[in-house]
Formats: sequence, structure tokens, C-alpha cells
Amino acid sequence: MITDMVENIGGDKVQVEGLMGSGVDPHLYKASEGDVSKLYNADIIFYSGLHLEGKLVEVFEKMSAQGKNTIAISDALDKKTLIGSEYFASNYDPHIWFDVDYWATMTHYVTEKITEADPENAAYYVSNRDAYLEKIKVLKDDLTAKIDELPQEKRILVTAHDAFNYFGRRFGFEVVGLQGISTATEAGVQDVQRITQFIIDNKVKAVFIESSVPRRTVEALQAAVRDQNHEVSIGGELYSDALGSAGTAEGTYVGMYKHNVETIVNALK
Ligand SMILES: [Zn+2]
Repeated sequence: MITDMVENIGGDKVQVEGLMGSGVDPHLYKASEGDVSKLYNADIIFYSGLHLEGKLVEVFEKMSAQGKNTIAISDALDKKTLIGSEYFASNYDPHIWFDVDYWATMTHYVTEKITEADPENAAYYVSNRDAYLEKIKVLKDDLTAKIDELPQEKRILVTAHDAFNYFGRRFGFEVVGLQGISTATEAGVQDVQRITQFIIDNKVKAVFIESSVPRRTVEALQAAVRDQNHEVSIGGELYSDALGSAGTAEGTYVGMYKHNVETIVNALK
């Protein structure tokens, strides 16, 4: 998501390299030697922060201590407005990109940082920023219109891991993640039993897999619901912690979000 943002702002004045591609889980991601040398050679390093990239915290701290321009984009946000979480060392839920307004705030912040590093091209970056912000504004209207098709009682989102709390807060969904908020903890038998009962009690029509999390936990859940003589379908694949493949619509922030909301609404309607 950050790669998409920086490419949009930087345009052809900035060479951008994203370390984590499509389908990659940031909670478990470890830096390779090649990554470390890319980080050393970078003029600016952008990362999400709030311990999303749990295994990279030390690498980022080391880069920063050595004078590299290392920026957590979540620093742009007012911490008091974040959703708390006991599962992360930051004490906050780090899946901040699913709040569209946060994404706009962080777009301003990243533009400031790029402009500070390359003031000569400031006007260019600001103009790109405004074009990106306009896309985000249109996206927000599109998402709201699509979600309005879904009655309140059907707004229950069951996914592989708890990445959608900011989405749920904004659009009035109850959100249930099988694996908890980080994929570092596996779903246990009790989690599956509890959520199976929840699905039956609330007549949930569909549950969702995620592109960056193995699908087996969600399939185990579907099987457990069947064992109770109920039916829940797999509503499709959502992009939670990674975008789709580069060069596809889902490989962009806007396309990813539209895909997710269309998938969710169409499956739960
Ligand atoms: Zn996550």
C-alpha cells in the first residue's frame, strides 16, 4: 500500500522499490540480505509502523540510528483516535490503511517528507498528491454507495485474521477474525468452535479468505459449520495486508479497496 502511495506522489522523479510484494504477510516478513542493502542505499525508507512489520522493528531502528531517513507513516496519525490492541507491542491495531481518511492524512505526511528531501520538485509532488487525494475522495464515495446496498444486520465480516477493524468502525460492520489481530498466533480449536457458533447464531451467509494468509483456517471453519448441519459459503478472497499483483487493478490501493467491498457486499447481500 505504501509503495502505491509513494509511486503516486513521486511519479517519475522518484525510484520506488517495495520490499513486500503481492500476497506477502508483513507480520511475519523478515529482511533478506538483499533487502538490507536496498535499505542502506535508499534516500528515504517509508514503513507503516505500530509494529505491523513485527520482525523488522530492529532493522528500522538500526537504519535510523545510522542516520538514514526512516519514516513510519503512522506517525502522521493522532494516536488517541487509533483502535487499541493488546496483541501488538505498540498497543495499537496497525491495520490503519483501511481508514480512508487516515490514508489521506498519511498521503499529506509522505508528500511533506519527500518534498523536504527534494525541495526542487515540490510543486510536482504537491500536484501528484492532489491527484491521488482526489482518487481517494472518489473511492470513499464509491465505497459508501456500495455498502449502502447492505442492510445493517448483514454487516458481519468474518475473515482469516483481524485486519478489518478500521474498516468495520467506518462502515458499521461487526468484524471477527479467526486468527486474531496478528497472523503470528494461529487459530485454536476453541476459536473455531466459538466462531462456528457465532456464524450459526447470526445466520452469516459467507466468510472470507485473505490473499496474504493461508486459506486452511477459513476452510476448517466452513467444515466445522457444516458439521453442525449449517451452510456458510466462502465469499471470495480479500486483500488485507498486501495488494494484488502489480499491473492489475487490485495492485493499487483504490482497486484493492473496491475489490474488497464489492466482494463483501455481493457475498453477504
Ligand atoms: Zn494483519
